[in-house]
Amino acid sequence: MSLRLSSRANFVNFATISTIANKDETVTAAIKKLANQGVMTLQPYIPGKPIEELQREMGITDVVKMASNENPLGPSALALKAASDALLRIDRYPDGSGHELKRALAKYLSVSSNQITLGNGSDNVLALITHAFVKPDEEVIISEYAFATFTIITHVANAQPIFAPCKEWKHNLAAMAKLVTDKTKLIFIANPNNPTGTYNTEQELLTLLNNVPPSVIVVVDEAYCEYITQADYPNSLKLLDKFPNLIITRTFSKIYGLAGLRVGYGVSSAEIAEILNRVRLPFNVNSIALAAATAALDDFAHREDSLRVNQYGMEQLTTALKEMRLNYIPSVTNFVTIDVQRNAVQIYHDLLHEGIIVRPLAAYHMPTHIRVTIGLQDQNERFIQALKKVLS
Ligand SMILES: *Cc1c(COP(=O)(O)O)cnc(C)c1O
Repeated sequence: MSLRLSSRANFVNFATISTIANKDETVTAAIKKLANQGVMTLQPYIPGKPIEELQREMGITDVVKMASNENPLGPSALALKAASDALLRIDRYPDGSGHELKRALAKYLSVSSNQITLGNGSDNVLALITHAFVKPDEEVIISEYAFATFTIITHVANAQPIFAPCKEWKHNLAAMAKLVTDKTKLIFIANPNNPTGTYNTEQELLTLLNNVPPSVIVVVDEAYCEYITQADYPNSLKLLDKFPNLIITRTFSKIYGLAGLRVGYGVSSAEIAEILNRVRLPFNVNSIALAAATAALDDFAHREDSLRVNQYGMEQLTTALKEMRLNYIPSVTNFVTIDVQRNAVQIYHDLLHEGIIVRPLAAYHMPTHIRVTIGLQDQNERFIQALKKVLS
């Protein structure tokens, strides 16, 4: 009843304002008032520029996109085959439980199916977590320079992001643990982090988990974990038994080369997964994505090749950067963040004219940094030559 009354009141309101002179501005203000408070603190997320957009805007062909940390080898042939087979059955709803993909993931990760939550990209899983657990005015601890999605979904929940300082571009997990109060609901850790490319060790993560109360949910976003070869990187799945408040998220968007299909997953205690499953909309992962991701897990060779191309490219890029005497943040991922020591937005625009799309990091309060995804050898070379040109 009260709901009806209030929507009626809004209706009357619009009817009135539509008759007055300065209609557009008044409508804008009235609509803004309707939105939830946290949402109005946000700016829309600016993604990496699509190749087609640059082609359209500048008439440049032969564009290289190194802006969104996609796999330059593309997806596995097995995934493509599974996707094209699945295309023949798109008249049907997907399997709403994602049974086959969960089964394949459970086997691959040595966990059980009921610990897995599938998402339309791992950012969907991150959003499910805040929807399910974060109440208005609760606190969510996030590192400085952390992945932007954490802050966006915290505001959408009308909760309060609390920012911890970084240490040499790394999440400072000790500082994050110290910020816990009785209002804290959740801690977001990107390991490794985007856009810095840095990681936290198993010891650091363990110390944090041992120091925060079990009433605080710790989310570890491992979008790039497949690229990591460092021995002290956490084996976080092993920690799930001991810490029922831990959630790990991963994605098929990065090393698997399936960013356009939107599929990722969370791994947690069965109890948390059961709650996330209540919030998850029934068909949040489409049938093509389910099929391709399931097949991609089997393609060990594609992952090996992707890793090798990345290691080679990282060496190629960082060697050139050292020669150019440019500082960069040492990265364990498939991208590297470079300090161009001047307005990075300008450098970004100059690189666009050379047909190369990178990511300026002003939105992350890193106004002189650009983030570059490791490409194939010739793409890396084109980037290096273009960067030399625009910096000279
Ligand atoms: C790319 C990325 C993701 C993955 O997002 P999807 O929604 O799975 O495409 C998640 N976290 C971080 C830190 C990332 O860089």
